[in-house]
Amino acid sequence: GAEDAPTPLTDGIHLVVDALKLNGVQNLYGVVGIPITDLARLAQREGLRYIGFRHESDAGHAAAAAGFLTKKPGICLTVSAPGFLNGLVALANATTNCFPMVQISGSSERHLVDLQRGDYEEMDQLAAARPFAKAAYRVHRAEDIGRGIARALRTAAAGRPGGVYLDIPAAVLGEVIDAEKGAASLWRPVDPAPRQLPEPAAVDRAIDLLANAERPLVVLGKGAAYAQADAPIREFIETTGVPYLPMSMAKGLLPDDHPQSAATARSLALRRADVVMLVGARLNWLLGHGEAPQWSPDAKFVQVDIAAAEMDSNQPIAAPLVGDVGSVMEALTERSKPGRISVPSRWREELAARTEQNVAKMAKRLEAARTASPMKFMGALQAVRDVLAENPQTYLVNEGANTLDLARSAIGMSSPRHRLDSGTWGVMGIGMGYAIAAAVETGEPVVALEGDSAFGFSGMEVETICRYRLPVVTLVFNNSGVYRGDGASPTDDPAPTALKARHDVMIEAFGGKGYRATTPAEVAAALREALAARIPALIDCMIDPSDGTESGRIAHLNPKGIGN
Ligand code: ADP
Repeated sequence: GAEDAPTPLTDGIHLVVDALKLNGVQNLYGVVGIPITDLARLAQREGLRYIGFRHESDAGHAAAAAGFLTKKPGICLTVSAPGFLNGLVALANATTNCFPMVQISGSSERHLVDLQRGDYEEMDQLAAARPFAKAAYRVHRAEDIGRGIARALRTAAAGRPGGVYLDIPAAVLGEVIDAEKGAASLWRPVDPAPRQLPEPAAVDRAIDLLANAERPLVVLGKGAAYAQADAPIREFIETTGVPYLPMSMAKGLLPDDHPQSAATARSLALRRADVVMLVGARLNWLLGHGEAPQWSPDAKFVQVDIAAAEMDSNQPIAAPLVGDVGSVMEALTERSKPGRISVPSRWREELAARTEQNVAKMAKRLEAARTASPMKFMGALQAVRDVLAENPQTYLVNEGANTLDLARSAIGMSSPRHRLDSGTWGVMGIGMGYAIAAAVETGEPVVALEGDSAFGFSGMEVETICRYRLPVVTLVFNNSGVYRGDGASPTDDPAPTALKARHDVMIEAFGGKGYRATTPAEVAAALREALAARIPALIDCMIDPSDGTESGRIAHLNPKGIGN
């Protein structure tokens, strides 16, 4: 009879995979081990793409970059205690950068962990994650897996995006429940990141301020890039004629050669602007906290941000515009009559004159670097710039001290969200994780421009790139050291800043293609060939060890004391 037919069953692992699928998740970034190995296997069988890394922080950085690129939380999967902690670096970095991601970690038995009885990989992961994440949740029953995943995905994407931790103990992954009950427990959040319209009075206040400005300036940040509101941003900027500065990850929202870009007159623009509109950009250390002398002490700020509490964090915000970038920019364009906001020609001319001066200065420097032997950063970068201009769909990942500072200005971007870099923390170690996610999520070729020190933090993922045959070309700017390679040591040991490696040999061990380049022409030839072939490749670019400055452009952040 019917009572004898076995009830179909499911378990925690199946429910996690079913919930991710129901929520449209396509890619998982992780490192397997107890208790999540079967979870990764099942996910792959069920049509999700699982990318297996060599270290959890790289998998986490990949999930974060996926979140930035797609506006949907990227998913990182880790084992318990140490694997979880490795991933936490990326979760914290994602939260700092306002990128949506969810770190799902398996964890050990609650009844052992909570009495500190010394379990395998014992750790109270929920408590450990909380200070580093936007939110942290734990699932205690298989029937709550769907709820936990829906909640984690919504929290990561809603309002100011960030990293969410979801703890699933091994016992819950193995828990067996009725399949029908399990299926009914899953859901997909409706409209997880709703538009947030600004108050009309707030829009009019901002328009008044901008209309009365003598030297207005717009600063575009990576929140503006993330918002995927490219058309309304461009429309507002072009119809008003206001000059703008892109922060590094906002480059390409409007092409860097746009006539209204003030990037080549940056310090003058900051010092002289009287009304500044920040769009998805925080007034943090990257913008000198809005303080004099970098900024005019009389500058008035308009700030567009989805996080109301961001206002006044550094300077008084005369016109706060709380809302999503797209809605705010549309409202500004709608509510300002044509011609209401315009830019006095004196300001445009002042910026243009400085741009011309700076471009001429830079041209001399570039010309000298082009022929310098041994090769300089700026020599290699010009070669990269030229090849990337021929391949404008390429994604660019960039980290290092000098490699980051110099590439940011030397390499123009023409498409939005095509540049990923060290971000708000100025962190090193995002390189290979970001590059892998860019290749996986977009299917386009990726170029990773890495300082030799920065590369070391995630270098082993070159094996991952080769294993999945991703079209990632890594250029290591190898000046044999952190900052520089000519540091002297008073002992038989190398200097604290010294490094030594043939990175091109390393990728060959994994089946990738290695190149060693000692001139800009060799850099260009290797990059052209590798991009055309769409193969995993690494170009070790040999840079003069004496080229580069300590800490790049942020040497002033080193403590001084009595000196040494
Ligand atoms: P940058 O480093 O490029 O200057 P930040 O990371 O400092 O940029 O600033 C990004 C800001 O963008 C954050 O304050 C965040 O709250 C905001 N933000 C993120 N997404 C949106 C969005 N869709 N609409 C409005 N603001 C957003």
